[in-house]
Amino acid sequence: MKIAFIGLGNMGGPMALNLQKAGHTLSAFDLSAEACRKFAAEGLAVAASAAAAVEGAEVVISMLPASAHVEGLYLGSDGLLQKIPAGALVIDSSTIAAATSRKLAEAGAARGVAVIDAPVSGGTGGAIAGTLTFMVGGSEADLERARPVLEKMGANIFHAGAAGAGQTAKICNNMLLGILMIGTSEAIALGVANGLDPKVLSEIMRRSSGGNWALEKYNPLPGVMENAPASKGYAGGFGTDLMLKDLGLAQENAAAVRASTPLGGLARNLYAAHSLGGHGALDFSSVIKLVQARAA
Ligand code: NAD
Repeated sequence: MKIAFIGLGNMGGPMALNLQKAGHTLSAFDLSAEACRKFAAEGLAVAASAAAAVEGAEVVISMLPASAHVEGLYLGSDGLLQKIPAGALVIDSSTIAAATSRKLAEAGAARGVAVIDAPVSGGTGGAIAGTLTFMVGGSEADLERARPVLEKMGANIFHAGAAGAGQTAKICNNMLLGILMIGTSEAIALGVANGLDPKVLSEIMRRSSGGNWALEKYNPLPGVMENAPASKGYAGGFGTDLMLKDLGLAQENAAAVRASTPLGGLARNLYAAHSLGGHGALDFSSVIKLVQARAA
């Protein structure tokens, strides 16, 4: 299958490589020349522009930071939707506002291009290993068209509902993750302040009722888990500013449906303070720095 892949960041790059390894013909593009160089060196065919990448594509996948990037790429009189061959399928895996996903699906339908939202969970480790969880919004038929492609990048594929529903599922999940990372950080910092070995404490909690994904796969304290971003200077991974964006989307959504999400709101404010402290580009698990300072 001829697949165009737009957005070769921490997630998109490894996802595109997995599709290429599976035998698909990839044509990739990123606005960052550095990202293009990095993945060209790994064997990806990089096009000169997004428009060149989608020439003759049967499937177009995008993995961009936020709503504004997705709107900027696809919509408008000069947008990519005008250049994608009619009959093609667009899979947008970026985490963006559900309303933007719906707008994109409507604009695609008007041009004979099917669009599904398929945000992911699983982190950069899941992107590299091809074990991501996809949360899909769109028609059942379009999901079935996408399934053989999604299966090469992920281990779990869920149909959340109609267009935009994948995004809603994703922000519920990330609101929980954002809260859990802060709670996990507080618990580890408290133990360390009491002289406990963080590796021993983390293992105790991982196997006890406090066990969660952060303790399983993404320990926030440097040195506890060799492959976690914390042990690599909080480089790569999932940026604090991306988590802040997702918690903002969750709060906007909660306001729209009049839901009560007090911990989600508090978590958003804590990541905002952390970002203002100059840590926006670091992995979100660096939020432990906020509570470490207090515990010290
Ligand atoms: P990233 O910042 O590492 O990569 C985004 C890439 O998109 C960058 O390389 C940027 O240059 C490129 N880009 C932006 N606008 C573009 C455009 N118009 N055309 C071409 N390229 C463009 O971000 P990431 O960590 O890969 O995350 C991507 C999306 O996936 C975000 O919505 C994020 O919330 C979500 N997500 C990330 C993780 C994670 O662990 N990093 C996990 C799940 C979901």
